[in-house]
Amino acid sequence: MNLDFTDGLRDFQLEVRAFMHERLPSDLSTKVERCLKLDKDDYLRWQDILAEKGWLAYSWPEEYGGTGWTPAQCYIFQEEMGRANAPRLIAFGLKMVGPVIYTFGNETQKATYLPGIRNNRVWWCQGYSEPGAGSDLAGLQTRAVRDGEHYIVNGTKTWTTMAQWADMMFCLVRTDPDAKKQQGISFLLIDMKQPGIEVQPIVTIDGGREINTVYLGDVKVPVENRIGEENAGWTYAKFLLGHERSGIARIAASKARLAYLKDIARVHRVGGAVLAEDEEFMRAVARTEIELMALEYLELRALMSAEGGGAPGTEANMLKIRGTDIQQEISALLMRAMGYYAVPYVAEALEYGNNEESVGPEYAAALAPTYFNMRKASIYGGSNEIQRNIIAKMVLGL
Ligand SMILES: Cc1cc2nc3c(=O)[nH]c(=O)nc-3n(C[C@H](O)[C@H](O)[C@H](O)COP(=O)(O)OP(=O)(O)OC[C@H]3O[C@@H](n4cnc5c(N)ncnc54)[C@H](O)[C@@H]3O)c2cc1C
Repeated sequence: MNLDFTDGLRDFQLEVRAFMHERLPSDLSTKVERCLKLDKDDYLRWQDILAEKGWLAYSWPEEYGGTGWTPAQCYIFQEEMGRANAPRLIAFGLKMVGPVIYTFGNETQKATYLPGIRNNRVWWCQGYSEPGAGSDLAGLQTRAVRDGEHYIVNGTKTWTTMAQWADMMFCLVRTDPDAKKQQGISFLLIDMKQPGIEVQPIVTIDGGREINTVYLGDVKVPVENRIGEENAGWTYAKFLLGHERSGIARIAASKARLAYLKDIARVHRVGGAVLAEDEEFMRAVARTEIELMALEYLELRALMSAEGGGAPGTEANMLKIRGTDIQQEISALLMRAMGYYAVPYVAEALEYGNNEESVGPEYAAALAPTYFNMRKASIYGGSNEIQRNIIAKMVLGL
């Protein structure tokens, strides 16, 4: 396959690179590079800059206010975002519910919800998982009962990322308890300010607050907030999962993490020599880099098929598995590089601008919390075991 960019794409790459250089605030890129805490305002600030340029909904078709970029242009944009250490774009609106709305929503829904996503005005969260319905998502129990022009929703959603900041939640609910489980589900858009919604934090292993349990008690949701047909929600849910999974590999971000690791290895001294002279350590780095390059070729292959009009198939599952394995490997190498300096847990050291004296080098503080936090990557978006099951069924016919 020919992976050379055309002259037009090279110019585009330079344009995006220059934009990142000029407009990405340096405190944000430092936070991303050092794995420091990003808060809601950080994400919004960067997304506002992109929205103003018209690049926030970069993967959307032009008719819905997107850039209309080709898959190759989207790839370059993601590459340059990773290279520049830009904050990741919050996917719930842009990559998940946005495409569902412009593909399956009615005209009123498109006009109501798409501008808020592409202009960075409305923060969405994903209400899929429940206690007892994660891998077996179709077993979800949250009930929506029709009452005139409303549904009354009762149930519990869990692991809901950033729900504490969300204005809206897209939510899978059971509308027909008697149908086969995939057939009795509907897809609702729920205003998080509705009475009856309670968001409770789940503190993660690194001490962070990014996930929540969301309790829904007699929440009134207008019927007009249902996407598509009643009881056909599983179709839209699966479409959304395909988009979610292909975005999780984050290859460009892993390349930036590896570059950061090599920078550290060049200056960090262990036993009198810099780490870059430790052959065993550098062999492990090289192995991970080779795996990342192989994954990048898989992504490029998927890209070429998308350029030819193909839909993402099991590549999305493969990218999810290998992309998250590599993210975890890099986080383990970074922690290994720091040795015992990675051990002290100082919550303030995860804040940008902290000027307390650090225990080891200042780049050490966030590496252990990041390593522990990254355990999530092989679970969310559908666990890697489940992705392997899908490949076994779809590709190997087992
Ligand atoms: C940090 C984080 C953020 C998340 N954010 C969201 C969110 O915003 N919105 C949302 O809806 N959900 C979210 N999730 C939920 C996520 O999608 C689920 O955790 C995931 O699908 C696994 O479901 P579960 O936790 O119920 O585990 P279970 O399904 O109980 O699985 C437990 C273990 O058993 C394994 N297992 C289960 N079934 C099989 C099988 N058939 N074959 C082989 N192994 C199996 C799994 O791989 C896993 O290791 C998030 C999860 C995490 C960790």
